Amino acid sequence: MPIKTIFLDRDGVINKEINYLYKIKDFEFISGIFDTCIHFRKLGYKIIIITNQSGISRGLYTESDYQNLTQWMLKKFNKNNVEILDVFHCPHGPESNCYCRKPKPGMFLEAKIKHNIDMGTSWMIGDSERDIKAANLAGITKTILVRSGHKVNESNSNAMFFLDSINEINHIILK
Ligand SMILES: [Zn+2]
Repeated sequence: MPIKTIFLDRDGVINKEINYLYKIKDFEFISGIFDTCIHFRKLGYKIIIITNQSGISRGLYTESDYQNLTQWMLKKFNKNNVEILDVFHCPHGPESNCYCRKPKPGMFLEAKIKHNIDMGTSWMIGDSERDIKAANLAGITKTILVRSGHKVNESNSNAMFFLDSINEINHIILK
């Protein structure tokens, strides 16, 4: 049976946006994120994180710095009773022409195949238009843009919903 999934961007959705974040001490969870994820799990969604990490190709931090932070983050989710199914990251820069860096859909399509995901019942929650575009290209139409990170140009956005905070999501995702 294909599974339904909530795809989450990381920086600006799970944690406060900081450019090229890789230090644990700089990682600050957005208030309410654990309760929101518990809500998703109760509705039967799996949770997958999809994140651009061009700081790796830019030489600002290493793949292993990224992995250390990710392991720490996953432990925190776990301690807060949230199971994260998987985390996908793109280490490449904008000039690489890779297929994984959002707004390209590569990470979503990889996740879809790996976990047999039904994109039609799945959601993408991001803080940037490139999150929405990548999701749309991968066949996800249900998208939410949160205004917590980047500046959002709503009139030019393809997002289905806009929210000030991830804490309002339980009014939108009801089943
Ligand atoms: Zn890439």
